[in-house]
Amino acid sequence: MCDFGEIKNLACASREEQKRFFCSFDHVLSDMDGVIWLAYKPFSGASECITGLKNLGKRVTFVTNNATVRIETMHQLLQKFQFPVNKEDIVNPSVGYIDYLKKKKFNKQIFVIGGQGLKDELLDAGFKLAPSSSDPIAETVPAVIEAIDDNEEIGAVIVDFDINLTLMKLQKCLTYLRRTDCLFIIGTGDKTVPFTQNGPIIGNHYFFQSLKEISGRNPYQMAKPSSDFNDIIVKKYFISDPSRVLFLGDSINEDMKFASIGGYKKLLVLTGSAKKEDILKWSHGESNKPDYYIESIGALNLILGMLKLNERL
Ligand SMILES: [Mg+2]
Repeated sequence: MCDFGEIKNLACASREEQKRFFCSFDHVLSDMDGVIWLAYKPFSGASECITGLKNLGKRVTFVTNNATVRIETMHQLLQKFQFPVNKEDIVNPSVGYIDYLKKKKFNKQIFVIGGQGLKDELLDAGFKLAPSSSDPIAETVPAVIEAIDDNEEIGAVIVDFDINLTLMKLQKCLTYLRRTDCLFIIGTGDKTVPFTQNGPIIGNHYFFQSLKEISGRNPYQMAKPSSDFNDIIVKKYFISDPSRVLFLGDSINEDMKFASIGGYKKLLVLTGSAKKEDILKWSHGESNKPDYYIESIGALNLILGMLKLNERL
C-alpha cells in the first residue's frame, strides 16, 4: 500500500503529518460520483467520513457535475444514507446555468439537452424551455428537414448529460447555434462517467466537442473545471482564503484541475476515474498534482478515527 510513487498516500504519512494535513483546511469541497458513491451506492465509510470531518468543525460542500438529478432529490438521497448535509451544501451545474442566465436577464426559450431533473430546476427558476423530445422521427429527408428547422424564439442551448440523447437533438443545437446571438452553454465535460463495475458511461465531452467543432462556436462552461463555475462557488460560500479549502475528488481533468484553478488543496481518491497508474507515474501536469492521494473515502475515515481528533481544530 505504501509504495513510493510521485504522490504520497495520506495513509502512509506520519501521524504528525496527517494531523498537520487536517489542520490545513477549514472547508472541504467534495465531488460525489466516484468519491462518496458509485451509481448512488455509497462507499463503505463515506457518511462516517463526512460526519467525522463535520465533527472536526470542517464545512463540507458537495460540488458535482451531475445535473441530471435535482438538488432536492440529491439531498434526500444523502439524507437517506445518513450524510449530515443541508440542501444548500450541494452545488451542480444547474446552479451555474440559472445564475448566468439571470445575470443576462435571459427571457427567450432554452433548448436543453439534459435530464428531467435539470429541466425542472430551470422551469422552477422561471425559464421557458423549448420542446426537446427524444421521440423517433420518420427516416425520410423531409422529416429531418422539418425536425431541424430553426426557431428564433430559442435564445440559448444548454448541453448537459442526457441519457436520451439523439442525433436529432444534437442537430437541432447546430441549427440554433448558427445564430451568433444564441447562447451556447455546456455543463459536464467528462470523457467518461464512473458508473458500475461494468465500466463507465460515455461522457458528454464527445457530444459537445462535435457541436463545438461543427458550429465553430466556443461554449461557456458551467461545470468543473471551469473558472466561471468556481466563481459561483466562491461567491455562494464566501470563500476568502482558497488555501484553507480542500478539494476531494476522483477525476484529474475535472476535480484536480478545478482545485488547481481555484487555488485549493487537493486530495485525489482512487475509487472513480483516476487509477493507481496515474499516481505511480504522474503525466497530468505539475499544477494538477494532488497534495496526497487516498485509496478510498473509507481509508480517509480510518485515518480520522485513528487520529482521534475529537476536539475542533
Ligand atoms: Mg467524480
